Amino acid sequence: MTTSTGTSTLLPTATVGSLPKPSWLAEPEILWAPWNLEGAALVEGKQDALRAVVHEQERRGLDVVTDGEQTRRHFVTTFIEHLSGVDFEQRETVRIRDRYDASVPTVVGAVTREQPVFVDDARFLRSQTDRPIKWALPGPMTMVDTLYDRHYRSREKLAWEFATILNQEARELEAAGVDVIQFDEPAFNVFHDEVRDWGVAALERAVEGLRAQTAVHICYGYGIKANNDWKATLGPEWRQYEHSFPLLQRSSVDIVSLEGHHSHVPLDLIELVRGKTVMLGAVDVASEDVETPEEVADTLRRALAFVDADRLVPSTNCGMAPLPRSVADAKLSALVAGAALLREELAAR
Ligand SMILES: [Zn+2]
Repeated sequence: MTTSTGTSTLLPTATVGSLPKPSWLAEPEILWAPWNLEGAALVEGKQDALRAVVHEQERRGLDVVTDGEQTRRHFVTTFIEHLSGVDFEQRETVRIRDRYDASVPTVVGAVTREQPVFVDDARFLRSQTDRPIKWALPGPMTMVDTLYDRHYRSREKLAWEFATILNQEARELEAAGVDVIQFDEPAFNVFHDEVRDWGVAALERAVEGLRAQTAVHICYGYGIKANNDWKATLGPEWRQYEHSFPLLQRSSVDIVSLEGHHSHVPLDLIELVRGKTVMLGAVDVASEDVETPEEVADTLRRALAFVDADRLVPSTNCGMAPLPRSVADAKLSALVAGAALLREELAAR
């Protein structure tokens, strides 16, 4: 049996994406850390870091391997930096994810992708492993929500332009050998009306015509203070997925990635995407406590009431970039061991 991530393993494990960078490449345990190298040394350093995270994922038994986002500073901004039409010198303070103020670049003209952004990096990742590989791109709505728009003056129009650009990039990633292309849309947990009105349509535009598996990752963010403060206001049950999941269930996106461990997400919401592959977070990224394999298996086991085992991909809640390297590595092992426990249970049934 081949599951939709391209592996023949039941419960194939994969992280959401980012992993800590080595301290010689960027300052550890902060997001958006500046590079410690420059020029040719930076190019080489990024590749060495990518080799190291591939090695660590393989050694610890991950079935689907990522680049750990070793070649980018930020999951949205690094992509936008490569586009024309956005001025990084003209900055405006805007409210991001309706949650915190940030100084962001300005859209000053038509946005276009004049050259591939991550395709060379993906080709390098492809050369480093025989396992299926997954590559993350920002989603159109999350890109829009990370900019000030002086040109289109319409979030929907700008999202549509970004979706077209993302589709070009995704087609080239697919040609470079990427098995799973993931779009990160944390904004889907915030702007429910826009998700309904144009968010899912823009995502559909981004995945149009792809033969690679496609995923959407929707989360409650990294374990940074602004996100933790926001989470504290969400009450005992987090039902944000209730808005987007029925729309995604009817979409052509293959895989839906969500938070499942230590968050207040009722796991029965997974039923709303019945038929899709579910990448379920069974590892908390907002805590440095390393889960036991039993805890991971327990979260996954509870989800099996709402998703078929051959459609479940054990994963992390979100990226692990801000964690200490040793903690992130230990969490990789816990994820793999927890999935193995459940796999044994299912085989014994
Ligand atoms: Zn996330």
